[in-house]
Amino acid sequence: MTDFPRSLIEFQSACVACLAAARWPQGFVCPGCGKTKAWQLQTKAWTWECAGCGKQTSVTAGTIMHHSKLPLTTWFWAAYLMATHSNGISALQLQRQLALGSYKTAWLMGAKLRRSMVAPGRSLLAGVVEVDETEIACRGKNDPLTGGGGRSHQGKMLVVGAVEVQDGGAGPGRIRLGQVPDYSADSLHAFLAANLAPGATAKTDGWSGYPGAPGVKHDPHVIGKMAAHIVLPWAHRIFSNLKVWALGVYHGLRRKHLQTYLDEFVFRFNRRRTRHAAFRSLLGIAAAHKPLSYKILISPEAKA
Ligand SMILES: [Zn+2]
Repeated sequence: MTDFPRSLIEFQSACVACLAAARWPQGFVCPGCGKTKAWQLQTKAWTWECAGCGKQTSVTAGTIMHHSKLPLTTWFWAAYLMATHSNGISALQLQRQLALGSYKTAWLMGAKLRRSMVAPGRSLLAGVVEVDETEIACRGKNDPLTGGGGRSHQGKMLVVGAVEVQDGGAGPGRIRLGQVPDYSADSLHAFLAANLAPGATAKTDGWSGYPGAPGVKHDPHVIGKMAAHIVLPWAHRIFSNLKVWALGVYHGLRRKHLQTYLDEFVFRFNRRRTRHAAFRSLLGIAAAHKPLSYKILISPEAKA
C-alpha cells in the first residue's frame, strides 16, 4: 500500500472505510427499511443511523467480527498481521503481539480470519497448470509429528496442488491446494473441476487418476517418481515451501483443520507481491462473511 496510513487513527479510519465499502458496495443500505440515507454516529463507534427508521447498524453487524468482545481495532491488527506477514503468524504469536487474554481467543481470531481467505467467486486457474499430489505429515491434538512409514497413509494427509505456469515455465502464477481423501479419479477430478477453468491444460506426471476430467485438457508426462521435480518443478517447489511453512509457523498441521491452513497458504502465495492489497482483500472478505460460531470453527466438515 503506497498510500499506507501514517497514523493509527488513519489506519482505523481506512479499515472502517474498507469494511463499509465491502459491506455496502453501492453505499449504505438500512437492513431495517432498505433506505439508503444514514449518518455515521459520532457517539457510537463504527455505527450508522438510518435517516428513515432510525435503526442503528454497526459496520460489523453480520460479519465474522460481530458479537466479538474484542475491540474492532484488535481485529484490524490481527487481519493486518495475518495478511501482511510474509509467513503468517501462529495463534501464540498473535496472542503475544496483540496482548490477548488467552490462547483460545487468539486461536479463534486466527481461525475466523483464515476462513476469510477464500474470496467468493475467485477465478479459476487457466492456461497450462502443473498438477501433482503430495503427502504432509500430521500431528494429533497434543502430539508431535507422526509419519506413517512406507506406503501407509497413516499419519499423513493427502494434498493435491495446482500451479499456473507463466512465461513458458519461467515462473509460477496462482496456485490452489486441496485436501483429498485419496488419489482416485473421483477425488482428483473433483479437485480439477473446482480449481481449473474449462479449457485449461493439466500437466501431470501421468498418474491414472487424472485423465478424463471433464473440460480439462490433459498433458501427461509419464516418468519415474524421482524425476517428477524436473517435469513439474513449480508444483514441487510449492509443496516443499508448504511443508517448511507448516512446520516453521505451526509446528505441523492437524488433519481436522488442514483445508483452512491450505487456504491460508494459497491466499498468502497468490498475493505475495501485493501484501497490503492482501490486507484490504482480507478485510473485504471478512466484511462480507457471515458470523461463524465456535461450533463451525472446530468442525472440520463445516462449510463456512
Ligand atoms: Zn431504516
